[in-house]
Amino acid sequence: MTLRNIVTVPEPVLRRKARPVTTFDKNLQTLIDDMIETMRAAPGVGLAAPQVGVSQRVIVVEYAEEEEAEEGQEPKKVEPRLYVMVNPEIVKASIETEMGVEGCLSVPGLVGEVERKQAIQLRGYNRHGQPMKLKVKGWLARIFQHEIDHLNGVLFTDLATQLWQPQTEEEAEDRV
Ligand code: ZN
Repeated sequence: MTLRNIVTVPEPVLRRKARPVTTFDKNLQTLIDDMIETMRAAPGVGLAAPQVGVSQRVIVVEYAEEEEAEEGQEPKKVEPRLYVMVNPEIVKASIETEMGVEGCLSVPGLVGEVERKQAIQLRGYNRHGQPMKLKVKGWLARIFQHEIDHLNGVLFTDLATQLWQPQTEEEAEDRV
């Protein structure tokens, strides 16, 4: 596995509509492994192929969903789960939306408040070309929406109602 360079604005590849993957070959496996390693090293909780300069519809997401804490207790630590999705598509979205603060590995030094669907259903393929479906909500749904936007040349700064420079470590974390 190799660390790839994360491209940042105004790199044109970030504004291009990425091509669907048609062959699940060795090159794709290498790309996916490299993307996982690059996301973890950044560190980030999601990465789309255009962010490493490859205009293909591939995303990786690794995020630990926090379980609801019982009253008076700390939320339980949950192991992060890794998702790899090729040619992902949102097939259903909730009417409810949520505001949340996002940052992006390709837009250094800015965070912003973005409205996202609270829950979505996705369809796509795993790394071996087998069809897969996913239902996600909350932060995980937000990350998937952010990554799929990358495949369509859309950045969170296009959607944000407000943008600012992060003032705290916490604001700067969980970039995607
Ligand atoms: Zn991003």
